[in-house]
Amino acid sequence: NTRALLEKQEDIDSSAVAYPNDIPIAFEEGKGATVRDADGNTYIDMFAGIGVLNVGHSNPYVLEAVHEQADKFVHTVDFPTEARLELIEKLDEIAPAGMQGNNRVVFGGPTGSDAVEASIKLAKYNTGGDGLIAFRGAYHGATTGAMSVTGNKKFKGHYTPLLSDVVHAPYPYPFRQDKSPQEAVDHALEELKAIVEDPYGGLANPAGIIVEPIQGEGGIVTPPKGFLQGVRDIADENDIVLIFDEIQSGLGRTGEWWACDWEGVTPDVMTSAKALGGVGFPLSATMYKEELDTWGSGDHAGTYRGHVVAMRAGTRAIEYIQEHELLAHARELGEYIQGRLQEAADETDRLGQIRGKGLFIGAEFVDSDGKPDGDLVDDIQQYCFEHGVLVWTAGRHGNILRCIPPLVLTHDLAETALDVIVDGIEHAVD
Ligand code: PMP
Repeated sequence: NTRALLEKQEDIDSSAVAYPNDIPIAFEEGKGATVRDADGNTYIDMFAGIGVLNVGHSNPYVLEAVHEQADKFVHTVDFPTEARLELIEKLDEIAPAGMQGNNRVVFGGPTGSDAVEASIKLAKYNTGGDGLIAFRGAYHGATTGAMSVTGNKKFKGHYTPLLSDVVHAPYPYPFRQDKSPQEAVDHALEELKAIVEDPYGGLANPAGIIVEPIQGEGGIVTPPKGFLQGVRDIADENDIVLIFDEIQSGLGRTGEWWACDWEGVTPDVMTSAKALGGVGFPLSATMYKEELDTWGSGDHAGTYRGHVVAMRAGTRAIEYIQEHELLAHARELGEYIQGRLQEAADETDRLGQIRGKGLFIGAEFVDSDGKPDGDLVDDIQQYCFEHGVLVWTAGRHGNILRCIPPLVLTHDLAETALDVIVDGIEHAVD
């Protein structure tokens, strides 16, 4: 059955579909942290639809509200609805400390890219500036503004001219930069300062700095402590709007509501999407401090800015995380998974580094010369797939094994998944 669906897809679908070439799977059903394919095979899902399904596939508590809402009505524009207002209140409740009580939200369309576009517009609107600073290795999306701030040329090289006046600063990546954590932070902040403060070498009139508190697509690159605060300080000293892109790292993924909570640093603007739609409904949001709430009515408009069913799902998913204490669970399970990966790393010099927080975990693989080894990770991914575990890759060279399971993953399932992953590593490095 799977083969027939894959063949049909190849016949009629776009050549741009991303995944079937890597992992030949056709989904039939998902429950919690497992999925069943069209031939009845069950897999442990360590990917969660790119970090979307934080409360698990088809979470019944979320779906109950979805059905109720869908029976009443599905679409309105920005009119007040209970669904909309309760989600705004919920987001204020869980916002980073410095945004709580003064958080505003502009909802976006289905994709995270849309929230990134809004964040860029908001920074420009409020400062009158035109330049943007982003970071190497960053991924922010596939629309024009979001591509402009994305750091990897692979995603944007064909589409120039994009936004001009975008400069990319180095992101601290001690492992790849061969620096100590402190040196990597100092280097990144010095370069950022130079861009901001030197009108000849840098940007004449920067409006915003956009940064992922932990880079997702870039390879779960986890900056050492001090980086985010350093960026915050530079933004403050220069009246630049600081945007955190928490689309992949937010909503409990790291074991805190937002990755920036680990350092207690609050941005001015924050993007969210992916897990925001509860169980995969398309919804994004740009959250921002009240003092930036200067747009006039209709200044940032759109038909689907806030899908009522998705909003209901989002609120219920946040409630579910709260009631089941999934933040603490993500932290504990994350430590267990990193521990198991570390044991594997102790046996081979091909597993160079394990990093991340909570259930946002990356394992970076290298060849015998220490260079990125994407083929090795492909082999591990394939082995895992053949043994019932879905894991994905990340990083410019595809050499980071990415574990971002639903936060509802049980300890037993995690153990089974790690048995397979560790076997896969041993098998591939042999
Ligand atoms: N920002 C980050 C940090 C992301 O990880 C992604 C998607 N992987 C996006 C933005 C873009 O979101 P979307 O694919 O929903 O447009």
